[in-house]
Amino acid sequence: MTVDLKISKAGHCVAGGHHAEQGASKKNIQFNALFALIKHPEKGYILFDTGYSERFFKATKKFPYQIYGAITKVTVNKKEEVIHQLKTIGITANEIKYIIISHFHADHIGGLKDFPEAQFICTKIGYKDVKGKSGFSGLKKAFMPTLMPDDFENRCQFIEIETATNVHSDLGKMIDLFNDGTIKICALDGHALGMIGILVKTNERKVFLVSDAAWLKSNFQDLKLPHPIVKLFFNSWSDFKESLNRIHAFYKNNPKTLIIPSHCMETYTELPQDIKWKHEAF
Ligand SMILES: [Zn+2]
Repeated sequence: MTVDLKISKAGHCVAGGHHAEQGASKKNIQFNALFALIKHPEKGYILFDTGYSERFFKATKKFPYQIYGAITKVTVNKKEEVIHQLKTIGITANEIKYIIISHFHADHIGGLKDFPEAQFICTKIGYKDVKGKSGFSGLKKAFMPTLMPDDFENRCQFIEIETATNVHSDLGKMIDLFNDGTIKICALDGHALGMIGILVKTNERKVFLVSDAAWLKSNFQDLKLPHPIVKLFFNSWSDFKESLNRIHAFYKNNPKTLIIPSHCMETYTELPQDIKWKHEAF
């Protein structure tokens, strides 16, 4: 069984290129906030992350979240929000049945509140790490509680990858989400605790969405690390390197699989036509 997959972006921020890759130019580069729309033949529509939404601006009006807003320089408008992009191709909010959340940073959970029927899927440890955090303790985790739906826990399926029996030779333990091989979830800790990536099987190819386990493709292709200053915002630098090494091994052993980091402009620009979001029927 295979699924259809489309990738688009919901907003972006800018940061110095040398932050994403040590030794690179300090010139600002654009970090797109990607999301993926998956159409499963039996389960319906699924999102992987949701990018930014205009809620970000409201959430960063008050101290201390003003600091987050000032550092990240976000651009997003209503038309770019996932919910609006879905409408343009005739998909309503209630048709989104699942949202897989890679991690709880604002550029990945901005649209959660727009999908009242969706069941959320995230790791237990990832949610536990941000649950109840606000003010400075939330800011430290780049987590904005106001972006979370009130009934989040009731609608969430918490996964524990460490209990998975499926083991990939490069990526380690994986959860086969629907037990049909279409979406497999693996742990990519480091950038955030409990962060996940998904390996998706489409008709044309396999696609590995690695979230923020790499910011640029040079990170996993050539093992070029981000600037050490980003350690300040990472949960664990050693886990980050361990995850990156696994993605690197996977890349070497699976050259036909398309690996997509959430914020890499080059990868986004070069997406194959069948994966790139065109504002037409899905
Ligand atoms: Zn991110």
